[in-house]
Amino acid sequence: MKRPTILVLGAGYGGLTTVVNLQKLAGPNAADIILINKNDYHYESTWLHEASAGTLTPEQVRYDVKDVINSGKVKFVKATVDGIDVNTKKVATSAGEYTYDYLVIGLGFEGETFGIPGLDKYALSIANVNAARQIRDHIEYQFANWSTDDVQDDSRLTIVVGGAGFSGIEFLGELGNRVPELCKEYDVPKDKVRVVCVEAAPMVLPGFDPELVKYAVAQLESKGIEFSIGTPVVEATPEGVKIKTGEEEFEFIKAGTVVWAAGVRGNRLIESSGIENMRARVKVDKDMRAPGFPDVFIVGDCALMINEEINRPYPPTAQIAMQQAVTVAKNILALINGEGTSEFVPDLKGAVCSLGEHDAIGDVMGKKITGTKASIMKKVIDNRALYMIGGPLLVLKKGKFKL
Ligand code: FAD
Repeated sequence: MKRPTILVLGAGYGGLTTVVNLQKLAGPNAADIILINKNDYHYESTWLHEASAGTLTPEQVRYDVKDVINSGKVKFVKATVDGIDVNTKKVATSAGEYTYDYLVIGLGFEGETFGIPGLDKYALSIANVNAARQIRDHIEYQFANWSTDDVQDDSRLTIVVGGAGFSGIEFLGELGNRVPELCKEYDVPKDKVRVVCVEAAPMVLPGFDPELVKYAVAQLESKGIEFSIGTPVVEATPEGVKIKTGEEEFEFIKAGTVVWAAGVRGNRLIESSGIENMRARVKVDKDMRAPGFPDVFIVGDCALMINEEINRPYPPTAQIAMQQAVTVAKNILALINGEGTSEFVPDLKGAVCSLGEHDAIGDVMGKKITGTKASIMKKVIDNRALYMIGGPLLVLKKGKFKL
C-alpha cells in the first residue's frame, strides 16, 4: 500500500513543532513527510522585536531547519508557497506543484493595517526576520543621516510605534535600551530623539492585569517613551502619521520611522485556498481540522479558536501554536492508523511581556511578577521553546543565558 503523504507548509512554531512530533512518533514507514518553508531557517517570531530594535542580530534569532529535522524521516523543501487549493488537493510552490493525503497549514501571520491609508506603503512592520533587519537598518540610517546632514531635521529622530499591544510594547522596551546606545554611537543628543506609542484603544496591553500595565507604562515612560492613547492613526504619509485626537481634532506627528505593530491576520494564501476564513484565519474544528476538509489541519496564527469561557478567540501566540502542533501530529497519525482524532485543549500558562533586556511583566500560573524576576522567566520561556523543538543542543546553541 502506498504510504500517505503529509505535507506541512511553514517552518514556524506551528509547522516545525508538528514535524518534530511527527518524526518522533511516526514509525519508519508510516508516511512521507514533506516540510516546505520559504527559507532554509526557522526564525523565532517572538524575538523579532529584539532584532528590529537591534538588541539582537538577525542571526541570533534564527537557526537552520536541518539542525532539528531528521532527514531520514522528513524531506525539507526550501520554496515559497504560491497557492493552496484544498478542492483539488494541490499546493503550488516555487519548486513545483505538490499534492498530499494530509495537509498542515502553518504559514503564520501578516500585518493588518485595517485599510488605514498609507500604512501599507509608509510604515514598517515586524513581520519576519528580514523585515526586522529593515527596521533596525532604517532607524540607524536616520541617526547616521541626522549626524551628517548640513541642516538637521530632528523629525528624522522621531520613531512612531503604532499599537500598544504585546509586540508594540515589547518593541518599545527594546527601543528604550537601544536609543541611548544609538545616541552615543552617532553623537546625537538624547533630547533630540522622540519615541511615541500611538494606540487607538483606550488602554495599553488589553487583557493584562491593570497593576502590571501601570508598572510597564511607568518603566517605559522613565526611559523617555511617550504614549498617545485613544488616538487612532488615520493616515500615514512619507512624513509621518496623522492621528485623531478628538471629535474633529487631528494632530500630525512628523517622524522618520513609523513601525506598525497594531494588528495581525492570517497568511493571505488562506483566502484563496477554498477554506472558509475570517481575515485569513480559519475557525477550526475542535481537532484542528478545517471545517469540511477532513484531511486539512490548520496550526498557529492561521487557526482561529474560540475560548468558550469568555466567548472570544484565543490570542495568536507561539505558546498556543506549539501546543496545537502536538495535537495535529497525533491526530494525523491516528487517522493514518484508522483511529479517531482528539480535541485540542489549550493549557495556558500565562504571559510574560518583555520591557527590554532586564525588565518585564508577567502573569504566570496566576502569579504576578515584574522586573528581573519576570525578565528571567521570559528567558526561561524563550529557552523552553527552543528545547521543545530542538532539545538541549539547540538551547546551548541559541539560548538566552545572560541575566
Ligand atoms: P510563524 O512562527 O510566523 O511561522 C510561519 C512560517 O511560515 C515562517 O517560517 C515563514 O517563513 C513561513 N512562510 C510564510 N509564508 C510562506 C510562504 N508563502 N511560503 C513558504 N513559507 C512561508 N507569542 C507568544 O506566545 N509569546 C510572546 O512573547 C510573543 N511575542 C511576540 C513578539 C513579536 C514581536 C511578535 C511579532 C509576535 C509575538 N508572539 C508571541 C506571537 C507569535 O510569534 C506568533 O503567534 C507565532 O509566531 C505563530 O506561529 P506560526 O507557526 O503560526 O507562524
